[in-house]
Amino acid sequence: MTTYWCERAWLGDRGWVDGVTVEVDGPVISGVEQRPLPPHAHRLCGLTVPGFANCHSHAFHRALRGRSERGRGDFWTWREMMYDVADRLEPDNYYRLALATYQEMVLAGFTAVGEFHYLHRDSHGNEYADRNVFGHALIQAARDAGLRITLLDACYLSAGFGEPPHGVQQRFSDRTAVAWRERVQELADEQAGPEVVIGAAVHSVRAVPSADIGTVATALPNAPLHVHLSEQVAENTACLQRHGCTPTQLLAVEGALTDRLTAVHATHVTGEDVRSLGAARCFVAFCPTTERDLADGIGPSRRLAEAGARVTLGSDSQAVIDPFEEMRALEMDERLASGERGGWSAGELLTAGTETGHTSLGFAAGRIAVGEWADLVTLDVTSPRTAGTGGDAETVVYGASRADVTSVIASGRPVDLDPREVGAALAAAITAVTG
Ligand SMILES: [Zn+2]
Repeated sequence: MTTYWCERAWLGDRGWVDGVTVEVDGPVISGVEQRPLPPHAHRLCGLTVPGFANCHSHAFHRALRGRSERGRGDFWTWREMMYDVADRLEPDNYYRLALATYQEMVLAGFTAVGEFHYLHRDSHGNEYADRNVFGHALIQAARDAGLRITLLDACYLSAGFGEPPHGVQQRFSDRTAVAWRERVQELADEQAGPEVVIGAAVHSVRAVPSADIGTVATALPNAPLHVHLSEQVAENTACLQRHGCTPTQLLAVEGALTDRLTAVHATHVTGEDVRSLGAARCFVAFCPTTERDLADGIGPSRRLAEAGARVTLGSDSQAVIDPFEEMRALEMDERLASGERGGWSAGELLTAGTETGHTSLGFAAGRIAVGEWADLVTLDVTSPRTAGTGGDAETVVYGASRADVTSVIASGRPVDLDPREVGAALAAAITAVTG
């Protein structure tokens, strides 16, 4: 048992409370109480909030930061650069890149990651002897970084509405949805421990034929299900041509719109799509720093929330890994699109980044409360960014950045990483996959 004493902690519905002891028993919180500093407690000075959930990550995209920003282009030109990196990945170099990327996440205050994983085969499109070798590497990387992981194993069968995969895309494909299901079932049956959840993903309605969406959606009936949804106008146009409906409506017809679905992006959705996603109580993962980096557009986050959808956040392409930036970007983008301020309150954004996110990944976490995973992130309120900002939710969302994180406790374990060593590991891992 370890006792922490938070100078000031965010207790969700109870708001900010000064002087909170948090008892941690193994990986979970066993007591929360307002009281003076006990003599044996570890002090957490500043603001303490629950750990953040990174609900949409592609670990290897970290290799593109600073490289893909050169020159002009759009999502599709960025995708060619991403494919170049994907082509060079092998289990060993991917493990090292994912480990360093996940360490960057933990240092920023993330305590769980939803890894949307679609690289399954070798560079010739053949299965490895261990056909889940990349999944195992990602799980091990998360474990070694001290991060809980929901591995969202993605089914990818076509390059776009019936077009066969070509080039590096053949590394993504299991050839059939049934073969995908068998492989994923094997991974799920391994029961890798409480810090690992195996979920399913429809890569997109482009990449999974409509007749196979149901197979993917029901493969793991109690696990999280994710899908890239309407990130690009081109996807909507092609879907309308092929099926006569939007990607959201296609998912609805195929029975995939449920309360365990996370729709990632939902940038270009119609009013009817918003109502459908809300009525089904879907999660919607916004990735604002990626969406702006790729010039994707601004999705209707506020309208989705008002319709009943549960909004979460993810770092996706790793252009930025900073939960504070994702939270505030949701509201800032909404301001630019709507011409109004204050659609999202800071408290709502904090809930999206923590409790809602962890729930979507299948973890009871994101609140400083008894029985939850012991994830505590503490921020300095005296830095040049945070000083004089009031010491409340607005300080966290609008004042702070990842540079203000002074302490991270993830699943009950204090994070002890040297940022310089993580930087060196990232540099080496990226060099190995970019040449
Ligand atoms: Zn993605």
